[in-house]
Amino acid sequence: MVPDEGLLDAWPGVRVDADNAAYYAGLLEHRLLVNRCRDCGAWHHPPRSICPRCWSTAVAATEVTGRGRVALFTVLRQGPSRGGADYAAGHPLVAVELEEQIGLRVSGTVVDVPPGAITEAMAVELTWPDGEGAPDVLRFRAAGR
Ligand SMILES: [Zn+2]
Repeated sequence: MVPDEGLLDAWPGVRVDADNAAYYAGLLEHRLLVNRCRDCGAWHHPPRSICPRCWSTAVAATEVTGRGRVALFTVLRQGPSRGGADYAAGHPLVAVELEEQIGLRVSGTVVDVPPGAITEAMAVELTWPDGEGAPDVLRFRAAGR
């Protein structure tokens, strides 16, 4: 676990709090941690301290496989310069439904696939940038490559 000071320094523009600290600490270790209820087993994201299904407070950040399917996507032609976004070519913005649970979605981008080749229900998996540091967005690639 990364110390809290390091966590705050890694995401200067993000409000890191008790509910999402484990999520961001996981990103620094290139692990996607999603809150799961220990009582009913439901996953939820973004992180909250209470299970939205049964209201239990026994939720724990739990690693997921990072595999899923594109649920929604769009291609941005302009936006903030971050994550190496290439707006001239089109920057994909996707909601990926993770395989752990129907409706469990995280947002991110798709790399190594031309924006025009992205389709709904396309199988994707997480990929992490080389080196250390704070990933600013979740990156997915076509699964099985
Ligand atoms: Zn629950």
